[in-house]
Amino acid sequence: MRIGAYEVQAFSDGIFRLDGGSMFGVVPKPLWEKVKPADPLNRVAMDMTCLLIRDRARHVVVVETGAGPKLTDKQKRNFGIEDPPALLDELAKRGVHPDDVTLVINTHLHFDHAGGNTYRDDERVVATFPRASYAVQRLEWQDALAANERTRGSYLPDDYAPLEAAGKLELLDGDGELLPGVFVEQVRGHTRGTQTVRIKAADQTLWFSSDFLPDRHHLPLPWIPAFDLFPLETLEAKRTLLARAVAERWTVAFTHDVPRFGRIEQAEGRYRFEELAAQ
Ligand SMILES: [Zn+2]
Repeated sequence: MRIGAYEVQAFSDGIFRLDGGSMFGVVPKPLWEKVKPADPLNRVAMDMTCLLIRDRARHVVVVETGAGPKLTDKQKRNFGIEDPPALLDELAKRGVHPDDVTLVINTHLHFDHAGGNTYRDDERVVATFPRASYAVQRLEWQDALAANERTRGSYLPDDYAPLEAAGKLELLDGDGELLPGVFVEQVRGHTRGTQTVRIKAADQTLWFSSDFLPDRHHLPLPWIPAFDLFPLETLEAKRTLLARAVAERWTVAFTHDVPRFGRIEQAEGRYRFEELAAQ
């Protein structure tokens, strides 16, 4: 879809699976399984959605890089990842070679968002996109480096430490405009240093949520993943941002929904996702 000077496409790196109870926090299973059926291991399947943003000035931006090629067989089994990562094929289908990418934005550094940042080349781990800088919040970088017993399972240092060593990490201190009309905004909730992406042109806004609002099933305010480190801040962020998304008619894409664009509608106090037909 077109937003001002930018052509924006959403695609999936593939499917992964997480525990459904963890995904829906305090919501009882009889409620969440109606919208998201669980597999025999109680896991729910989700896409790892990425965005490709391009303009005529040859900016080529990739938002999120999926789970990447470095996971062990055990990790793939645990996360129900059955197919190879689709990131590079999806980019190739759209005529994008890794050398063409000028900027990568990770909403945060969990493995399902930053795994494709790097790949293993013999003994070394190197940048997948050699010409790109990788934009991440400094707070997220610091928390990823200092992962604790609760957060360690989500952070895999090979996804980001080699980029820092190679001088490719662009550490951001809060909100900023990375390209004309392409904004990142820090939202505490899922982690301290999570950022969302908003592309704005004239009266159009496209918003890419991040994991405090991973899919349309999390639109009800109390449906908050147990993974979120600051659930009450997730609640307040949802309250504020969903009201804005409705009032300003933002086009929205989610990190873990089927890759597609839509609008948030509000009726009888409930938020609803209305998919846009033409993209
Ligand atoms: Zn995620």
